[in-house]
Amino acid sequence: MPKDLPTAPDSAKSKYWRKPLDADKVKIPHGELHIIVSRCKGCMFCVEYCPRDVLEMSEDFNAKGYHYPIAENDPACVNCRLCEMLCPEFAIFCTEAEEEGSS
Ligand code: SF4
Ligand code: SF4
Repeated sequence: MPKDLPTAPDSAKSKYWRKPLDADKVKIPHGELHIIVSRCKGCMFCVEYCPRDVLEMSEDFNAKGYHYPIAENDPACVNCRLCEMLCPEFAIFCTEAEEEGSS
C-alpha cells in the first residue's frame, strides 16, 4: 500500500469503524426469521450474504437431504430481508419482530 493513503483509525477494531452522526436518533429494526425447512436446497446464499451473520447451516438434513439454515444469531437480525430476496426456493422470509412490552 502506498505510504500517503489514509487508513482506518487504530482504535477501530469493528467491521464498521465510522459511526454515523445521527446514530443515536436511528432506531434499528429487529427481524423475526421464518425458515421453511422443507423447501430449502442448501445453496447457502442466505448464510453467505447476510450482512449481520445471523445464519449458519444446520448439521441436520431436511426431507430432501439438504442441510438448511438456522438462525444462530437471531437477535442481530435487522429485518433487511436480503435473505428473503436472494433465496431461489422461497424458503426463508423475515418479518418485523414485535417490540418487547408492546401490545
Ligand atoms: S433479514 Fe437481513 S439481517 Fe436478517 S437474516 Fe436476513 S439477511 Fe440477515
Ligand atoms: S437461500 Fe434458500 S435455499 Fe439457499 S440455503 Fe438459504 S433457505 Fe436454503
